[in-house]
Amino acid sequence: CGIFAYLNYHVPRTRRDILEILLKGLRRLEYRGYDSAGVGIDGGNGKEWESNAKSIQLIKQRGKVKALDEEIHKQQDIDLDVEFDVHLGIAHTRWATHGVPSPVNSHPHRSDKSNEFIVIHNGIITNYKDLRKFLESKGYEFESETDTETIAKLVKYMYDNRESDDINFTTLVERVTQQLEGAFALVFKSVHYPGEAVCTRRGSPLLIGVRSDHKLSTDHIPVLYRSSAKDKKSCSALPRTDQDTCLFPVDEKAVEYYFASDASAVIEHTNRVIFLEDDDVAAVMDGRLSIHRIKRRAGDYPARAIQTLQ
Ligand code: GLU
Repeated sequence: CGIFAYLNYHVPRTRRDILEILLKGLRRLEYRGYDSAGVGIDGGNGKEWESNAKSIQLIKQRGKVKALDEEIHKQQDIDLDVEFDVHLGIAHTRWATHGVPSPVNSHPHRSDKSNEFIVIHNGIITNYKDLRKFLESKGYEFESETDTETIAKLVKYMYDNRESDDINFTTLVERVTQQLEGAFALVFKSVHYPGEAVCTRRGSPLLIGVRSDHKLSTDHIPVLYRSSAKDKKSCSALPRTDQDTCLFPVDEKAVEYYFASDASAVIEHTNRVIFLEDDDVAAVMDGRLSIHRIKRRAGDYPARAIQTLQ
């Protein structure tokens, strides 16, 4: 029902800060109604953010965000003072459509017991039974009754069956979305892609807020351009297809991204947002945001830029 995720890139944050931001985001979405809540964060307690990102910790609870907050503070094995230079945390409030409200049915859902991939989802996957049957026949074991869990298993299936080791996270997610029917907004996190976020939507809202102290003049506004657009060179294209792509040229500079199903969760952090459209896949990699539309539809697309919320 509610999606909130936060990625800090070269903006040092303690785990306590990160959890605070995530929980606050969820509280802003509470008005939409929900029955359970959960977060997924990096699990390591060392000094290097990259090695801390090699494990993922999930904390999920039935009931209010307050109950989740209490559950988080009960955890013995997470050090709240550890600082992360780069980190992605994802959070969700669930309004159950498939499976009763319970910790195991709450989001994030995971690919496997070692939490290699996790995902949060708003919406309904209508072909989840077929997907689940297929994945079970391949040996993937399910733990919940939800439609969403099939997505977590499916991304691992795509990873396990990758044709090369340098396959990127976006490609995996694109392959997943091609199998999904129904409505969804999704945010993915993985131990295999530290500091990276991939999100997508179809029929459910999702937006990305961007915050940086570095001047982001209009020259730096990412525009989702058509292949014919004159200003194409202002975005250095990713090595991809000729389809629409957008790049946020922040280089090594500090930047924060907020992913949310509703602008009310983002507005206190930034008023610069990009609303995703159906079939957009957006990814943050090395601090840069790229948006790619995976399906071409008839007609023209509106060119897109950061919008300023009032
Ligand atoms: N269909 C999913 C579930 O039941 C997501 C529901 C939601 O949007 O919160 O877990």
